[in-house]
Amino acid sequence: MTDTSSAPVEHHVFEADVARLLTLMVHSVYSERDVFLRELISNAADACEKLRYEAIAEPALLGDDPQARITLAADHEGGTLSVSDNGIGMSRDDLAESLGTIARSGTKAFLERVTAQGGDKGLDGDRLIGQFGIGFYSAFMVADRVEVFSRRAGSDEAWRWSSDGSGSYEIAPAALEDAPARGTRVVLTLKDDAKSFAERAKLERIVKAQSGHVPVPILIAEKPG
Ligand code: ADP
Ligand code: MG
Repeated sequence: MTDTSSAPVEHHVFEADVARLLTLMVHSVYSERDVFLRELISNAADACEKLRYEAIAEPALLGDDPQARITLAADHEGGTLSVSDNGIGMSRDDLAESLGTIARSGTKAFLERVTAQGGDKGLDGDRLIGQFGIGFYSAFMVADRVEVFSRRAGSDEAWRWSSDGSGSYEIAPAALEDAPARGTRVVLTLKDDAKSFAERAKLERIVKAQSGHVPVPILIAEKPG
């Protein structure tokens, strides 16, 4: 027998099978699929609150579109549903950090940064909903593919993030006309058994039941915001 008593202590970091973790999370964290909409709407509302706060110091960020808004648009034939906001938007790095790192909450980091700087006057922290950094992935309960088109406030670049939720994602530059003028559009290609989420009546019912407290107006429109 070899004597291992003097061998150095080894430190290891847990490894994770990300694809499996994602599947597990997507299918076991939530008891009903409807909540994906609440998660995407809360992210959109957080983005509007972040912009409102940043615009206190830099009003130009609001441009000629000062009124916060969340827009839902369904394309029944195409089987897609989009959730858009005219909030703060995400740069390329924001997309990689916030949507490419499971359990990384950009919203929690934002709140901590602002509070540490002592600059939380004017920020309504209670309005920020996100904290666990997993809500976004609930979109994969109903979607085969999730695409995110985003343009950070004040930026002249737009980016597209895309994933089928099976362990990898892509980021590429997007044409400005494919993204909102400011903010983020999340486009879900609905699974075959989730096409009913493109029905207006169903969307209205879910929004009313789950997102009544959201401090930003939610429109159900014909065209994506
Ligand atoms: P949480 O909301 O708990 O932080 P999510 O998984 O829902 O976690 O989202 C992860 C992060 O992705 C958010 O904290 C935010 O930084 C970013 N994000 C998601 N959706 C948007 C959006 N519509 N606009 C801007 N940032 C977003
Ligand atoms: Mg969230």
